[in-house]
Amino acid sequence: MKTGYLIDMDGVIYRENHLIPGALEFVQALLATGTPFLFLTNNSAPTPEDLAVRLKHLGVLGLSARHFYTSALNTADFLCETHPNCTAFVIGEGGLLSAFHQRQIANDSIRPDYVVVGEGAATTEKLTKAHECIERGARLMATNPDNWCPVGHERTRPGAGATAAYLEASSGRRAYYLGKPNGYMFHRARKKLAEAAHGAPEEVVMIGDTMETDIRGAVESGMLSYLVLSGSTTVDLVGDYVYQPTRVLQSVAELVEEIRSGVPSDCRNFLAEERAGFRIGKAGSRHQTDVLALHKPRPRPAMTK
Ligand SMILES: [Mg+2]
Repeated sequence: MKTGYLIDMDGVIYRENHLIPGALEFVQALLATGTPFLFLTNNSAPTPEDLAVRLKHLGVLGLSARHFYTSALNTADFLCETHPNCTAFVIGEGGLLSAFHQRQIANDSIRPDYVVVGEGAATTEKLTKAHECIERGARLMATNPDNWCPVGHERTRPGAGATAAYLEASSGRRAYYLGKPNGYMFHRARKKLAEAAHGAPEEVVMIGDTMETDIRGAVESGMLSYLVLSGSTTVDLVGDYVYQPTRVLQSVAELVEEIRSGVPSDCRNFLAEERAGFRIGKAGSRHQTDVLALHKPRPRPAMTK
């Protein structure tokens, strides 16, 4: 059976500036066997070329831009497909600006169709401009819903979701969030995987370290989902979620042999008793995309003059 892999990066392949043990052998096995794969990241800041260079510096050779699909590319694809010739005011870094430039989505800071929020680059001046554009009728969207992103073992930084939440609060409008777990990200990634493999793989596996984005999106898109414990999720948190991964692995090192041999592991079907072993964790754990009041409408208070 031909299997294709969608692979998250941070917490799966590397953490900070270090490769996760076994990740090099994992990528080498994918390349050597001609297994279809695509790295899928919610980080909209880098371009696919940047990511290939980053992995090269970490010692992973043989990758090029075509092996990466970012939430920035997904946002550009979404706008091209749903609203050709639209314009946007963008708060974001090189990866997002370059994706929009490639797809000829014009930048407009006067009366854009959309305000698009990505990772980084938020300044008070830009947020004020974005707020004004929304007041003039621009629709608000974000490349990904992550409120925070890991930058170190115990350090995080604000993510695009937090910037979008700022504008939601100031404008009273709700943002639309692309990137994982949005089905459009998985739909386009599956299509790209099929193009690269000259035919759709019979099954697609999403490998990731985050329940709310990687695992949730895979479950909702009808893919297999492998959770790795080398990143942001510890095993005691898995039971908190309604959706569950197909399989739980310590890291991608556990997949090297089965990719080399082409024989799926016996423990492919995550056992029912193992699932039953996951209990609800301690209350108050902070999840990457969960905001307690996110599904409640945020009516804008009347302005006082
Ligand atoms: Mg990750």
